Amino acid sequence: MTGIYQPAGGLLGKVRRLTARAGVRRPIDASIDAPVISFTFDDFPRSAALVAAPMLEQRGWRATYYTALGFLGTTTHLGAMMERADIEALRARGHEIVCHTHAHLDASHCDPAVFADDCERNCADLMDMGISAPHSSFAFPYGEATRATKRALQSRYGALRGVRHGINRKGDDLNLLKAVALDGGEAGLDKALRAIHEAVRQPGWLIFYGHDVRETPSEWGCTPDFLETVCAEVRAQDIPVLTVGDTLSTLSDQPGRLSA
Ligand SMILES: [Zn+2]
Repeated sequence: MTGIYQPAGGLLGKVRRLTARAGVRRPIDASIDAPVISFTFDDFPRSAALVAAPMLEQRGWRATYYTALGFLGTTTHLGAMMERADIEALRARGHEIVCHTHAHLDASHCDPAVFADDCERNCADLMDMGISAPHSSFAFPYGEATRATKRALQSRYGALRGVRHGINRKGDDLNLLKAVALDGGEAGLDKALRAIHEAVRQPGWLIFYGHDVRETPSEWGCTPDFLETVCAEVRAQDIPVLTVGDTLSTLSDQPGRLSA
C-alpha cells in the first residue's frame, strides 16, 4: 500500500538480516520440554485491546503488547491506535505492556545510539503512565535488527523479538526470538495452526504476533474468527499461555527446564 513504510527487500535486505541473525546472540540455555504459547500484539491498534484481549481473557490468558507510544491516539493503516485508557485498562487486567521503540524505527536504517535513545524515551513515558516493567522485553519494528542494536539493547531488555517464522527452543536467540504471524488470511491461519501442532510434536515456545483484529483487517492483521480459531486450537491442545515476561521468568527460574 502506498505511504506505508516497508523495510528493504531484495538481496541486500536478505544479507543484512542473515548477518544480524548470526551475531550478538544470547542463546536460550533451558530445555523447553513442554510447549508454551505467548500471544503478542505490536504497535498496537485499539482492536488488539478491545477485540483480542477479551477473547484471551475469557480463557484466563493474558497477552504481551509491544507498544510504540508514537502511535498513541493516532489512526494508521491498522485502524485507530491505542489510547492511554486502553493501556491502563490492559494493565489493570493483567496484560503485559512492553517496548517497541517510540517512533517505530527501522533498526537497519538508524544510528544505534539514536535507536536506543528512542527506546528509552518510550520506556520512560510508559513508566510515567504507571507501567512497571516496560523493559521486560522488546520487539524490533518490522523485525529488523542489527548486530549493533542487539548489542545496545541486550542488557536493557529481558529478550528481543523479531518476526522470523518459527518456534523457539534451546539454543535459539533471546536477542532475536522467532515468532509466528497472526495474519495472511486462510493461508496464514493454516500456518498458525500448523505451528501449534509443531509445538506439540517438538516442544518449544511459540510466540504469536499480531496487529489489528477486525472484520476487515489490514494486511498485517486478522479477523476475530481467525483469532478465535487459533485460541480454540491452543485450548484443544491444552497448551499453557503465558506472557513473554512470565515465560522468561519461568526459563530463568528453572534453568534446564521450562515447566509452564
Ligand atoms: Zn511494529
